Amino acid sequence: MLADRHGRQLVVAAVRDILGELRAANAGTGDEEIATRCRARVEGQLRPSQRRVFNLTGTVLHTNLGRSPLPEEAVQATADALRDPTNLEFDLETGDRGDRTDHVRGWLKRLTGAEAATVVNNNAAAVFLVLNTLAARREVPVSRGELIEIGGAFRMPDIMARAGCKLVEVGTTNRTHLADFAAAIGPRTAMVMKVHPSNYAIEGFTAAVSDAQLAELAHRHDLPFAVDLGSGTLVDLAAYGLPHEPTPMEALRAGADLVTFSGDKLLGGPQAGVIVGRAELVRKLDRNPLKRALRLDKGRLAALEAVLRLYADPDRLSTRLPALRLLTRPSATIEALGRRLLSVVGPALADVAEAGLQPCKSQIGSGSLPIDRLESWSLVLAPKRAGGAALARLAAAFRALPIPVIGRIEDGALRFDLRCLEDEDTFIGQLPELRL
Ligand SMILES: *Cc1c(COP(=O)(O)O)cnc(C)c1O
Repeated sequence: MLADRHGRQLVVAAVRDILGELRAANAGTGDEEIATRCRARVEGQLRPSQRRVFNLTGTVLHTNLGRSPLPEEAVQATADALRDPTNLEFDLETGDRGDRTDHVRGWLKRLTGAEAATVVNNNAAAVFLVLNTLAARREVPVSRGELIEIGGAFRMPDIMARAGCKLVEVGTTNRTHLADFAAAIGPRTAMVMKVHPSNYAIEGFTAAVSDAQLAELAHRHDLPFAVDLGSGTLVDLAAYGLPHEPTPMEALRAGADLVTFSGDKLLGGPQAGVIVGRAELVRKLDRNPLKRALRLDKGRLAALEAVLRLYADPDRLSTRLPALRLLTRPSATIEALGRRLLSVVGPALADVAEAGLQPCKSQIGSGSLPIDRLESWSLVLAPKRAGGAALARLAAAFRALPIPVIGRIEDGALRFDLRCLEDEDTFIGQLPELRL
């Protein structure tokens, strides 16, 4: 019985609601029909809201789909940490109180060469903490070309205002010179900040001041220089055949005193904000009472530690770290997968749509490398009936599968970029359940 399986309370409430709706609509229905509706309603309510999906959008690190997938080591470490008590803030050697950040601090210092490191909830929190700690009630000059919106409510000028800082806009949208920065520095300046324009690029007649020049200028005035990298990878992506993306190591070498970046963008880990840099400044960040409100829980710390451990062996990173494995997946492998799928997907769509295979370009996503695109292949499903409604129905049918398949609609077709499809058997196995 439904009540045995799911509990009396849910079932009684569902029956009451359904009877009420029938009465309101002046409709009569048999008991059988009521039972069926009741089961559907209760099971609908109990189905997890957040579920696994196939990300075939062509954007590998898709913010709306949870960004970076985690390696199995990190998943296991998270489960282990969540299941039982851990030495989260407990020093096993001395028996004294410990610091939760210490579980990842050593790795971050070794991997970036930084003097010190700390972590918070996400990179937005990292930027916020840096600004609030070092520049509250004082001025921060930022180039007009870097006053970015990352998406959602993360706009640099708003974050600065909430952190209690006064933004001083420097230069113009397309060109900012060292002299502009020099002129903006005064007695109320707290720090100099550079924001990596991660989700767009200004092209044409442009000029920006290099990290090294800004660092030199800031230090001449005894001010700290902070770089918000946004994404930020701990390896040189060019070594894996990908476009180069600035690293925290490069920013530190150029003279940055603090560098902030995300845990779940190119790093390939859980949501987190990493801050590396000078020990004296990181100590101030750790002492800010806000740090407590921005801290990571034990599950994510365990995941981050497990991911950082993989970086100790860069030779095997592109097979062991899913984000890097997907980004470096050869186009020929994706094409071969596409050919195998085509022979199954074509017949499954029967008379509804024509299936084909086309080359396409994947995006890294999450604001990383906005211009560079990766060669890939797409399954292209074109409805036989013309019009947007048929296309929308087709996309909805794939979203209604047990593991929803998310693609992209473009040029009159539903497109599935196959770069991120690794679980081929599960994808094929659920095709018979398509309700077209
Ligand atoms: C993504 C990004 C952020 C925000 O990072 P989250 O981890 O999403 O909070 C901040 N600054 C830059 C430049 C970014 O690209």
